[in-house]
Amino acid sequence: MWAEDGALIRLRFAGSQASGDALAALAPLVARYSTGGAMLTRRAKVELRGVARPEAALAALREAGLVETGVAADLPDIVVCDAPGQDRPARRLDRALRGQLARVPGIERLPDKFLVAIVGDQTAAARALRCDIRLARSEQGWQLTAGDTHLEGLSSDVALSQAVRQIQCCLAQGTPQRIATAGSRPSHGPQHDTPTDSTRETLGFVFGVVSAPALAALGDIAGTSPIGLLPNRRVFVPGLKAAERTQLIRLGALRGPDDPRAGLTACIGRRGCGQASTDTRADALALAEHDPDLARAGLHVSGCIKGCAARSPRPLTLVGRQGGYDLVEQGGPAGQPVLSGASMREVRAWLSARTRRAGTH
Ligand code: SF4
Repeated sequence: MWAEDGALIRLRFAGSQASGDALAALAPLVARYSTGGAMLTRRAKVELRGVARPEAALAALREAGLVETGVAADLPDIVVCDAPGQDRPARRLDRALRGQLARVPGIERLPDKFLVAIVGDQTAAARALRCDIRLARSEQGWQLTAGDTHLEGLSSDVALSQAVRQIQCCLAQGTPQRIATAGSRPSHGPQHDTPTDSTRETLGFVFGVVSAPALAALGDIAGTSPIGLLPNRRVFVPGLKAAERTQLIRLGALRGPDDPRAGLTACIGRRGCGQASTDTRADALALAEHDPDLARAGLHVSGCIKGCAARSPRPLTLVGRQGGYDLVEQGGPAGQPVLSGASMREVRAWLSARTRRAGTH
């Protein structure tokens, strides 16, 4: 896939977990081929941006064993929301599901965006994940939600067969369509992480972008263990030590949930999208410095009304238009602006005036 800044290559890791060796192999290839680092996506993939020589990059990634081949490449996206490791129920179900789907005729006909979420750990990010089929673990067993179907208290075998059945029904259509299954995404209000989203072992990066040196360090820290790729653009590093966290913070990781940059959302903006007229990420970072409390509460800078990075409301959303921004308070990119066509200087002045007003009340 091509973007303004070059080709875009997305890598998938089975079970949403990557071994230390895989990350160590990926790091030099990111340094060599990607100008935009490696971005963690909400589907727990790793995206290389700004790839000038995609064919050479793909050949090198293949040689390193980082590109899925054969029937694995035909399977739909399956995101596992859980700590990494082999023996957890969500991971067993994931392995069994991938094994069964590999034998389903025509599995490659599912729509590109088709997504199965296997939720072993109910974080806010896992709940907010929009998917076609959701398998969630509870004390009563597995819950399956697919479109209007909601089943509870399932054994893992029944959950597995029901999930496969849903996919077979989908494939039985002439042109398979996505299943309209809502996440339990609230219809309003920002998506805040819960304590289980940010633990001692989880780590986020600004806009989810991991530099090549940070990838190499992650690979080194993980060693032979896998690290988890979580749907909130974080990684789960089992047994992460304080000194290792400090090392990764030096390499661009967020300092923690209180880091103002943790509350920022921004699409690639004009660095990588022809629809954008503003440098969304640079502007978001500048505003986080100007008003850290606002950034912590949730600031979204969108390149245009489409809202690729998020559509849900934030305390403040800036929507790029003709080199300036429309400002939406307590809304998403499609909300009603309280200020239109503002330059960054005008945005800062508006924020300062708002803070002064709040201080006098
Ligand atoms: S929100 Fe608009 S500017 Fe940003 S990536 Fe999407 S289409 Fe491009």
